[in-house]
Amino acid sequence: MADQWLVGVDVGGTTIKIAFISDSGEIHHKWEIPTDKRDQGNHIPSQIALAINEKLREIGETKNKLSAIGIGAPGPVNDADGSVEIAVNLGWSNFPLKERLVLETSLPVTVDNDANVAAIGEMWKGAGEGAKDLLLVTLGTGVGGGVIANGEIVHGVNGAGGELGHITTVPEGGFPCNCGKTGCLETMASATGVVRLAMKALESRDEPSLLRDIYGEEKKLTSKQIFEAAQENDRLALEVVQELAFHLGLALANSANVLNPQKIVIGGGVSKAGDTLLNPVRDEFQRFAFPRVSAGAEVMMARMGNDAGILGAAWLAKTQMKTIIQYI
Ligand SMILES: [Zn+2]
Repeated sequence: MADQWLVGVDVGGTTIKIAFISDSGEIHHKWEIPTDKRDQGNHIPSQIALAINEKLREIGETKNKLSAIGIGAPGPVNDADGSVEIAVNLGWSNFPLKERLVLETSLPVTVDNDANVAAIGEMWKGAGEGAKDLLLVTLGTGVGGGVIANGEIVHGVNGAGGELGHITTVPEGGFPCNCGKTGCLETMASATGVVRLAMKALESRDEPSLLRDIYGEEKKLTSKQIFEAAQENDRLALEVVQELAFHLGLALANSANVLNPQKIVIGGGVSKAGDTLLNPVRDEFQRFAFPRVSAGAEVMMARMGNDAGILGAAWLAKTQMKTIIQYI
């Protein structure tokens, strides 16, 4: 129904973002609530249902205005039943998210992993601009990834498709990763990874640097400070960004050689660094990608920021509705 709204939900460890979104991707109402993590996150589905009902009441609408819910969850999702296998920061383990949310709201529900959902959001309304073949890498506390091939999320056989953060870029002697391997992209390109690269550079050299001054005063560094120092042409900070760009460019080029994507989108907190990061990543990407793949791909920063999740979730809800209608 054209005049109905889709509900896009993005569940995070701190907040849950919810929005009512039109079929064409226009956000009508957007708000967030603090995530209720009590009892291993057991209250989250009823919390979402209640928040939706309260908002409908507040704006004088009824449930009939809503067609379907799409939801992004911070963990691997079981495609068959929409349960979340594990979401450590919510306390979920084999959590029946879809089943619970259908019960609580009486609406059709689609669940997917949050990085995949963000990739869909960028494809629909952001940097992807409708590109049907797209890679998204999100740089934050960890490094997430989403792959869209021919307009569809690549899930793989057991939900681990598109895990770009765990591509090996240091084959021997790399840092241990949370996944149990060593030398993953995540150990280099996450916020923690960038800080570790900077600390290593500070320890092995004695030249003056803004980073040395900051560390001397605050006894710690953040990835934001490292990018800011690079923007001010601090040599040590620029070398750290160059090292990060090497690993990111290598991983993206090797992934792109498989997919031959139109857009490669970099999102997440670290991505706020803008051209300071984007330019060296583009150079390294070009160096490692198959020339025809490189010629077809545009490497760019994400545009939707925090809205990518709710938009991608709404798109999933919309796609689900189309499938249901086709079967009727
Ligand atoms: Zn890993």
